[in-house]
Amino acid sequence: MPSLFTKIVQREIPADIVYEDDDCLAFRDIAPKAPIHILVIPKREIVSLADLTEEDEAVMGRCVVAASKIAASEGISEGGYRLIVNCGDDGGQEVPHIHFHLMGGRKLTWPPG
Ligand code: 5GP
Repeated sequence: MPSLFTKIVQREIPADIVYEDDDCLAFRDIAPKAPIHILVIPKREIVSLADLTEEDEAVMGRCVVAASKIAASEGISEGGYRLIVNCGDDGGQEVPHIHFHLMGGRKLTWPPG
């Protein structure tokens, strides 16, 4: 059964896509927690940080670089932003397809709850 985000990759579920390359996809979060809230995912379905192997190094690195480029194109590089990965129940992960939350456009508090 494909994950919710794989369905977005496959265009089975609509999303506001802001970036795409061969390995990564980025789209606006459906319930944004900041003025800019974008999810950056590897197209390949990896469940969570806990499942990463050496094989995933390149694609995860590519997603981080993509997030940096997206932050620049969204105009939040100068002010600053946050890139977060939630992992598992205690980490607050709800969608079992690894994703970076790119959040900015306001002063973010630390630590998160
Ligand atoms: P998590 O809690 O797994 O780290 O984050 C999942 C994120 O996915 C949440 O911020 C949630 O708002 C977002 N989300 C859940 N379903 C959808 C959807 O169908 N479309 C989009 N664009 N975002 C979604």
